[in-house]
Amino acid sequence: MNKSMPITYVRPEIAAMAGYTPGEQPQEEGFIKLNTNENPYPPSPAVVEAIQEVLHRGLQKYPDPMANRFRQAASEVLGVPPDWILCANGSDEILTIVTRAFVGQGQLLRLPYPSYILYATLAQLQGARYQEVFFQPDWTLPEEFGEPAEDLRLVFLANPNSPSGTMVPPERVRALAERLPCPLLVDEAYVDFASTDCLHLVAENEKIMVARSFSKSYALAGLRFGYLVAQPQVIHELVKVKDSYNCDALSIAGATAAILDQAWLHQTRAKILAARRKLTEGMRRLGFQCVDSEANFTWNTHPTRPVRPLYEELKRRRILVRYMNYPGWGDGLRISVGTEEQVDICLQNLAELLA
Ligand SMILES: *Cc1c(COP(=O)(O)O)cnc(C)c1O
Repeated sequence: MNKSMPITYVRPEIAAMAGYTPGEQPQEEGFIKLNTNENPYPPSPAVVEAIQEVLHRGLQKYPDPMANRFRQAASEVLGVPPDWILCANGSDEILTIVTRAFVGQGQLLRLPYPSYILYATLAQLQGARYQEVFFQPDWTLPEEFGEPAEDLRLVFLANPNSPSGTMVPPERVRALAERLPCPLLVDEAYVDFASTDCLHLVAENEKIMVARSFSKSYALAGLRFGYLVAQPQVIHELVKVKDSYNCDALSIAGATAAILDQAWLHQTRAKILAARRKLTEGMRRLGFQCVDSEANFTWNTHPTRPVRPLYEELKRRRILVRYMNYPGWGDGLRISVGTEEQVDICLQNLAELLA
């Protein structure tokens, strides 16, 4: 294959874009992996059992296109009716479905900045325009974020945000959505590590939608399952956009078992919150500015030392953290909260590098 010759028959939007680059997933063993906010603990044993049961029955048949077993289980746990829930192949697919449903070519999508980089990629794929509204230095959102604008069709808000781990309080989200002329997708991929959430706003305002993921708090990044909560008339339209069989039989069974084991979620969350405190305090002792996080990672900048060489040296030592550089904002290290032992090793190595 000749990689150097660009093809001429691809859509110009695609040719012009760089494409989303996910965090490194080293295929060799032996890394302490604190770069993509995975859970350091395994999922509930009930998940493995449920998947084995499906395998035992066989995979000859198509899965339930609406994943109704999951919707029923989630309905009981979340206290929302099943027809308010849309399931997808990871919450990334929810973001894709919502973008395709609401934003046409040339129309406008609004994003906070710095935030999840995939949002801009989705706009580019759609041939849409996007407007980045900068967070204020204290990670609060300016009024501008809720202002109407011509052709504005969709607003994304990661809450808690990545890379900061900070949250926009639900009352503020409510007020922003009331002013906006278009839907607001609240991306709650990290909400299980936070002290509050926006789920209750969905019933109040048809334009508010909440997306959730099984990749972080439920320790199932490899399974690929996420869902959206929105009013049923919204779900009705979104169903038309999704692939018919967007969730496979294994992920539906696994995610259903996972959401029904809330005790497991609470146990692993407690351990992660304890390790988050340790990481935050440790980074501050090392002289980093470390933002108070409501997620399973922390955002760290340093007032005097460049952080990129620290990332590189940690990587040589087989400790992987995420180096992020946001043009117009600055760079920093986003470090996932691992086990307490992993946090200790990371802090110890940073201490050596800074000495
Ligand atoms: C990890 C992440 C997601 C994607 O979750 P998947 O369910 O794995 O697709 C969505 N939004 C944000 C902000 C994330 O960090």
